[in-house]
Amino acid sequence: MPLLAHSFQDSEGDTMKPGDCIWYTGTMNANCEKGVCYRALVGGPDLGWMARLPCITTRLSATEGRVDCAAKAPMSQEEYDRQQAEHKAAFAMTSTAIRAIRATGLSEGSIECPKCKKGLHFSVARSNGHIWGRCETGGCLAWMM
Ligand SMILES: [Zn+2]
Repeated sequence: MPLLAHSFQDSEGDTMKPGDCIWYTGTMNANCEKGVCYRALVGGPDLGWMARLPCITTRLSATEGRVDCAAKAPMSQEEYDRQQAEHKAAFAMTSTAIRAIRATGLSEGSIECPKCKKGLHFSVARSNGHIWGRCETGGCLAWMM
C-alpha cells in the first residue's frame, strides 16, 4: 500500500465518504486540520463523545445529539471520485514498481520510478521479503509493506 501523507481512514478503519469533512484527521489527534479540538467541540459527558462528532458518519455515529461545526467542509462526490482515482493509480504504480524490484533479484538498490522516471530506492527485508520503496521525487511513490 502507498504510504499517504494524509490519512483517509477514520479511527474505525472506514474510508472517508462524500459528506465527511475534509479537515478530519482522526480522533487519535486532538485537533482537525482547521485546529478545531474534537473533544472540546463535542463537550458533554465522556461516554460516547466520539459518536457525537459531526466530522464523519460511521456505523458508530449517534443518530441524534450530534453537534455542529462551523468549520465543517463536506467532501463532494467529485472530490471523493478524484481521490479514489488517485489512490487507484498510486496503487497500480506501486504494484508495477514492486514487480520491477522483485525482477532485479537485489536486496537493495534503485529502479526507474514507473511514475516520474527518476530514481526509486528500495530495500527488501531478508526476513520476510517485505519491500520498502521511496522515489527521490518528493510526493511521488513511497511505501512500506
Ligand atoms: Zn517517482
